[in-house]
Amino acid sequence: MAPATLLLKGGTLIDGTGAPRRNGDLLIAAGRIAAMGAAETAGTVVDCTGLVISPGFIDSHSHSDLQVMENLPEKIRQGVTTEVVGNCGFSAYPARADRKALHEFANGIFRGDDGWGWTSAAEYLGEVERRTRFASVVSLVGHGSLRIAAAGPKLGALSEREQDTMEGCLEDALTGGAAGFSTGLMYAPGSSAPSEELERCCRVVARHGKTYATHIRGYSFHLEEAIEEQLDLTRKSGCRLQISHFQTVGRMNWDRQQHALERIERARAEGIDVEFDCYPYVAGSTVATQLLPQWTLDGGMEALLARLADTAQRESIASETIAGLPHRWEDVVISAVGSSRNEAVVGRNVQQIAEMRSNEPVEALMDLIAEEQGAVNIISFNQSEDNLRQSLCHPLSSVISDGFYVHGRPHPRLYGTFPRLLGTVCREKKWMPLEEAVHKVTMKPAERFHIDRRGVLKEGFAADIVVFDPETVDSPATFDNPQVYPEGIYAVLRNGEAVWKSEVWRGLSPER
Ligand SMILES: [Zn+2]
Repeated sequence: MAPATLLLKGGTLIDGTGAPRRNGDLLIAAGRIAAMGAAETAGTVVDCTGLVISPGFIDSHSHSDLQVMENLPEKIRQGVTTEVVGNCGFSAYPARADRKALHEFANGIFRGDDGWGWTSAAEYLGEVERRTRFASVVSLVGHGSLRIAAAGPKLGALSEREQDTMEGCLEDALTGGAAGFSTGLMYAPGSSAPSEELERCCRVVARHGKTYATHIRGYSFHLEEAIEEQLDLTRKSGCRLQISHFQTVGRMNWDRQQHALERIERARAEGIDVEFDCYPYVAGSTVATQLLPQWTLDGGMEALLARLADTAQRESIASETIAGLPHRWEDVVISAVGSSRNEAVVGRNVQQIAEMRSNEPVEALMDLIAEEQGAVNIISFNQSEDNLRQSLCHPLSSVISDGFYVHGRPHPRLYGTFPRLLGTVCREKKWMPLEEAVHKVTMKPAERFHIDRRGVLKEGFAADIVVFDPETVDSPATFDNPQVYPEGIYAVLRNGEAVWKSEVWRGLSPER
């Protein structure tokens, strides 16, 4: 049985608001924060001298839509007690009777199979409620998933009837418990949606007072136009806007970032409720089909494979892929493949693979996608360190993992985002004070997504707590060796219950 009360004694309280740290006790009773400052109790007492006590972290951009139900260790060991899923247009609902198109669309991001069976937001959230122990789950409904439910995987403008069906599904998801709406405007079929379609969806979101999070149409050559489109949608519809994983992709685009941020700042000054988020790494991670022109996915994976097999179409795919590439081929590393026969390419960049195969890089990439029937994931080294620092430290940014599970080598952010922020970013690089970093992963995202009574150390709030050592906290996970757990995270409590305890914590706690 859980103790009647738990007193975390003599710790350093960082409360999530951004206020300076102070020394004090924190008393937990019945799953909530009962008192702060100096407290007396008859229950369990843990001496937290030298340790930081902060709110549980909120990962406000996660792709663990399916994995949250498996209670896996990667997030809880970083101190994450709330996950916002359903990002970049991918949600695990709504689904029609024929689920093939939805699974084909989303499984590359979800590492899913065919075994997920709910149809609506309410059913998905019910399943999460029954199965998830480590995190509170907040879900956005994805535009790609909605569009597939309304019209299948086709590209281009929807008919009036399809648009109505989609808006009806969106309405249903928002009343069924979804916290907002997301788009993934670089992923087919969502990428083919005209602005008018999105504007109509945003009006529904605004009516419900919820949040719109967007993976914009481009982060490289057209970053500023892509941001402007989203600001304009928000201006017209009145919804709250969150620009997802803000960054400037590709070295030839790095000087665009300043202008892009200025646009966001001007929109704020004009009264638009816009903020953004970013992850603390210079490399990003996605599916390899992202490198191809998205019209190639019109009609789904079978249609793409047929196009790659057709000599004339393959030539135009190759030239458009090269023209659209903001990187060098050395900057793109294969992180996972669907089958075992191509395991040798995992961890190598596309240039190296081309050399292994005595072929051009673009040909090697297209061959690999065809051999694996699309099941190829990449990590690409997108950003400059200066730009990363600027976006992480910007007063409008939250910090996210954007982590997802793959069959192969994941991006290290899946294992290390939050401890890396506290250790490498704050303690080593000194890019921002610890109080500010904690704010960016607690109260700030709680406000963006209207997460009630979490994200701040305050009497009456849920006792979602992380206890960590500010001198040692960090993530040893690297791109070559990403599957390593963090250091310095001693205990993680969700609703007052210790769901992760380190050896150090077991030594400190009389409960064991
Ligand atoms: Zn995204």
